[in-house]
Formats: sequence, structure tokens, C-alpha cells
Amino acid sequence: MKTINKINGIPLHYARLTNHPYGTRGMQRNFSVDESFLIILQKAFKEIFDNCPLGKPEVITTAGIFVDKPGQHGHGTAFDLDAIFWGNDTLITLNFVHQKELYLGIESFLRKHFGIVLNYFYPNHQDHWHVDTSVAVDYNTSSKSETLYLQLVLKHIYEENILVDGFWGPQTSGGVSRVFAKLGINTPITTKVNYLKFLDLTGKIAFKLSDKSATPLQLIDNLTEVIEDVPVQNRIAIRAALNSFLDHNDTSTWLQQFTHDNQDLESVINSVIS
Ligand SMILES: [Zn+2]
Repeated sequence: MKTINKINGIPLHYARLTNHPYGTRGMQRNFSVDESFLIILQKAFKEIFDNCPLGKPEVITTAGIFVDKPGQHGHGTAFDLDAIFWGNDTLITLNFVHQKELYLGIESFLRKHFGIVLNYFYPNHQDHWHVDTSVAVDYNTSSKSETLYLQLVLKHIYEENILVDGFWGPQTSGGVSRVFAKLGINTPITTKVNYLKFLDLTGKIAFKLSDKSATPLQLIDNLTEVIEDVPVQNRIAIRAALNSFLDHNDTSTWLQQFTHDNQDLESVINSVIS
């Protein structure tokens, strides 16, 4: 076990206290970590921030590495990533809905290094990624956490019309066939080399997409998604308010000038695979 307060020179902070709540930069602290696990964390963070358009961050907040409890945390071989802070940008994992491309870009690279990655959609992981190396890096159709990731990138990065439920089925496998063909990757996804290629290209594509500013239509989609999570007694009134905004003559005329086009996606894919 080793004691650290930074990784690759990036300070590690803790932000789960009354004075330093979740979502803030928190305070730098010491963390105990298994030495061979630390090497994997260093490699993963290097690859992520070498590729990320925002570059190397100023602070990473973690809910913990070694935690005195059963499981991987008890061995110092798991890491909970709460948020990443750059000079002018922040990725708080709880804000998945608003930063899908950046979030999924980072997760794609995390998955190249950690066999277990639990994300926003995995029960109890909305506010952090849990990563550990207790299983090998590969894709199993029976893995709920891996299938959630796959469905999320098919939907939000590759614009496939797909249900995100964590279960592999004909819709997901159809999406994989179409997207792998577009990317020039061999199937099946369960072959490790194919899966790694997919993670790598998807990370790069997601990062390029995250660099483009969101259109007003995407912002409205995000708002709609947030409303669906509001308790039902409030949801109906909020949805009605949004609908009257969208139906108003002036706002609907204004919104018609924006279109959902996937030309951006195609040019980004071509720039990454060529
Ligand atoms: Zn954890």
C-alpha cells in the first residue's frame, strides 16, 4: 500500500464533507492505494487526458480508493471518481445528462484499463464512476454494466435509436453491427481486440463531439430528459410549461431554424478513422 495525494501530478481531492460538499473542488487529501493498481490508474489517466480536448485537469475529486470495507476498496484496488476540474470546465458525474459526450469519452478510455466500470445508470452510481480490475477487460453480453455503456454510446454518440436497459438483445446487436461496419471494426464485439478498438475509437469520437457546442434542440432534449426524472406530481406541470414554451408562435419559429442533422457525426467519424 502506498499513500498518495496526486496522480500524474493531478491533485486528488475529497469533496464529500459539509464544508466541501459533492460537486465542489473539495480539499486535497491523502489516499492509500495498492501499488500495482496505482500503475494502472496512472496509465488510464495519461491516456484519457492525452486524448481529452480539455487536456490535463487541475483537480480530480474521488470518494475514495482504500476504504475499510469488504470488496476491492478494502484492498486499495478500486477508485471512485466523482468529478474532474479543468481551468474553465468541469465534469461532475452526476451531470451526465448535460455532458454526455465528455462523460462517455472518458468512460470509453476507462474501460480500456478497468474490467469493472460502474456508471451513472448502474444502481447507486449516479454520482461517481467505480472502477476496479477484479475482472479482465473484455465484453460479455451478459454483463449489465458493460451493456449499459454499450447502449449509451450507441444512442448518444452514434445516434442509434435504442433502449438503454442493460440487456443485450436484437436491438443492441443490430446497433453494434451497423456501427462496427461504419467504424471498420470486425465483429464480434466479444473478441477482445475488436472491443478495444471500439473503445478507443468511441473515446476519440465522443471527445471530438464534446468539443462542439450543443445546439438549442439538444439543450431542449436535455431539459426533457431531466423533467422525466422529476416526481410525477411536479412533472406534469413542468412538462406543460415546457410544451407551452415550445408551442408558442415566436419560440417555435425560432426553433425551426435549428435541425438535428447527423452530418457532424459522419465527419467526426471520418476524421477519426482515416
Ligand atoms: Zn467504489
